[in-house]
Formats: sequence, C-alpha cells, structure tokens
Amino acid sequence: MTSATRVLVLNSGSSSVKYQLLDMRDGSRLAVGLVERIGEGASRLAHTPAGGAPRERTAPVAGHEAALGAVAEELAADGLGLDSPELAAIGHRVVHGGLRFTEPTVVTDEVLAEVERLVPVAPLHNPANIVGIRTARALRPDLPQVAVFDTAFHTTMPEYAARYAIDVETADAHRIRRYGFHGTSHAYVSRETARLLGRDPSEVNVIVLHLGNGASASAVAGGRCVDTSMGLTPLEGLVMGTRSGDVDPAVTFHLRRVAGMSVDEIDELLNRRSGLVGLCGDNDMREIRRRIDGGDERARLAFDVYVHRLKKYIGAYCAVLGRVDALAFTAGVGENAAPVREAAVEGLEGLGLAVDAELNAVRSGGPRLISPAGARVAVAVVPTDEELEIARQAYSLVNR
Ligand code: AMP
Repeated sequence: MTSATRVLVLNSGSSSVKYQLLDMRDGSRLAVGLVERIGEGASRLAHTPAGGAPRERTAPVAGHEAALGAVAEELAADGLGLDSPELAAIGHRVVHGGLRFTEPTVVTDEVLAEVERLVPVAPLHNPANIVGIRTARALRPDLPQVAVFDTAFHTTMPEYAARYAIDVETADAHRIRRYGFHGTSHAYVSRETARLLGRDPSEVNVIVLHLGNGASASAVAGGRCVDTSMGLTPLEGLVMGTRSGDVDPAVTFHLRRVAGMSVDEIDELLNRRSGLVGLCGDNDMREIRRRIDGGDERARLAFDVYVHRLKKYIGAYCAVLGRVDALAFTAGVGENAAPVREAAVEGLEGLGLAVDAELNAVRSGGPRLISPAGARVAVAVVPTDEELEIARQAYSLVNR
C-alpha cells in the first residue's frame, strides 16, 4: 500500500513523449503535456497545468532523456516535481507485450529484456517505449515503473481467433499470431459501456469500434476480449488514416515481383500511404466530409471503402458473439463523426442495430446512447481515456 496518490503516465513514441499527471483520488489531471520532434532541430514542449495557462518551449531536445528532463522541470515549476513523495508510480504505455504480459507489470531488468525481445514484432513502437522506461527509471530509480501493454486485453482471445492458418512450426518459430492492439482503450470502453447500460461488464457482450487515426474493432464477451481486428502488427483490420487494414497478402508478393518494390517500400506504402490517405489524399475525417459535401468523388469513395470495412467487422463480430448487447464507438472519428456512425449501421436493422438521427447529432464529451428507445442492441458513443486506464492499472498494481 502507498499513501501517495499521483501517477505520471508516459506514452513514449519514436520522436515524441506524451504525458499526464493524474490524481488517483478522483482521476483528475494535475498536468498534461507533450514533447514532440525529439531529436529534430525544432522540438516543442507544450505543458498545461490544471487550472493554469498553457506554456510552450521550442528549444531543441536531443533525446528522450532531455525530453523527460524538460518535463520534470515543467512539473517542478508547478510544484508537481518528480521528486514529490505524492508520486506513487510512473505508468508506461508499452505497445507489444507478446503472450507473456497479460497484466500490467512492474518493470524489472528481466521485464525490460523481455520487452526488448519483442522488438522484432513491434519494431516501430517497442524501442521508443523501452527508452522511455529506461529514462524514467534513471530519474526515479526508487519508484515503481509500471508497464501497461496494448496487447494485454487481447490475450484472452481463444487460440482459434489468435492463430493465422499458416504452418504452425513456422508461425511459432517467429511468434507469428494475432496479438491485437489498442487493448487499453478496448478494456476501458467496454467497461464504460456496461456502466452506461447500468450493468456489470461480466453480463454484457460489446463490440467496440476504436476509430482514431489508427483503428480497430474488438468483440468483448462478458468483459473478456474474444476477437480483435489488428493482428501481428497494427496493420491488419479496419481501414485507417494511413494504413490499409486487410489486404490479400499476395498484394505484397505482387508489389515485390511485378512492381519491383523493396520490402521496406511496401511496408511504407501499406503503413503510411494507404488507408484514407491512400484512397483520397486526406486522413482527417473532417476534411473528407467537407470534400464529400463539395461533390468530391475520391473522398466519397474513401468514405465508402472505410464504412464498408466497418460493416463487415460489425457483422463478423455479431456472429462471433452470438448475442450483442451494445456497439460502442470511440476515439477521434468514433466520438466525433456522426456520419460515420450513421453509415456504419445503416441497413443493419436485421441485426438489431440502428441509430436515432437526433441522438446521433448531439455533440457531447460524455458517454451517451444514440440508438432509438427500446432498440435490441444499444448503440453508444463512449469517449476513450487510455491515460486514465493506464494510471488506474498502474495505481491498483502498486496499491495491492
Ligand atoms: P485519434 O487518433 O483518436 O486522436 O483520432 C484522430 C482522428 O479523429 C483525426 O485524424 C480525424 O480523422 C478524426 N476526428 C477528430 N475530430 C473530428 C471531428 N470533429 N469530426 C470528424 N473526425 C474527427
């Protein structure tokens, strides 16, 4: 048990660190901020203390160590320094936890070594997460550093949902299987959806659609994930801002053999130049809607491809779950883009799914139902809060 009540949440990317300091007595934010363009000439730190004016620094920040040092200075200036005895833990978002990490985990040398062993399956994410943890540990070696894994919530998937139908020896030798990502968000949103329905998570089956710049769907039965759309990497599944989601794997052989592209070029094409951006040049749903309103055909096609894929996953997860109590939309697109929500369930009345046009048009920051009164399946907008979920998980671990 600890009497300290604060948790610092760090989300370290390759050139950025996002952070939030939370007060776990009520989940409120004491400070939030971001350091971006680390290692580039024009780095920027944006810091906002609760109830205070936002501050900005634009001096170059050489690496993650310097970035965390600058964050520590900003927090100290608000009387929230990292040396405070109020700090109970630092919670780190770690993208890939493989099969081993099914729960939030206090970081030890052995845990770090295992996260490092997973770099080949998460080359874009785990290295930055590791640097973030190492740096935070050096700053406060006495404090529990808790790793919260994006994959953890999906480790309950049954083997038949996690397996790709490829040669088992080859798959196992290279740890190729479906891991799923955005797990912290799927966990939080599925639980909040049950709460919105006034029911216990163990009683409800929920389809969660996390539609941000990255996007994934999950089927959650009684609080446990039974299927999710992302796989070995976050490339599989739904159409995303810049990622293709599902394609025939033979597309990659074709690009290699016929178009003469290198593996790295294909990787870049599918991860960064595909999805909405590949289809129409824009990955922001607001801009796509503006273009559609102006009669733009490519934007229309991009929207239709996006929605068609969503529908296929909704239908598939209705079948996987058998009984669906709720469909929850979350993240940037899911929380804000009413036309996407409307189009995604259009024509699915046979599955018990419908949205009420007036409720769907309401703009609000809170969880809300958008299905017509008495609908068989509740359709909901449930804002995600990955930082709060990471902080809660880290805090409950150090408070056991
Ligand atoms: P996220 O990754 O969850 O931050 O989501 C970012 C994406 O949300 C952006 O790329 C936009 O496509 C989308 N988005 C954010 N705000 C809106 C809005 N008001 N209307 C439609 N889409 C939005």
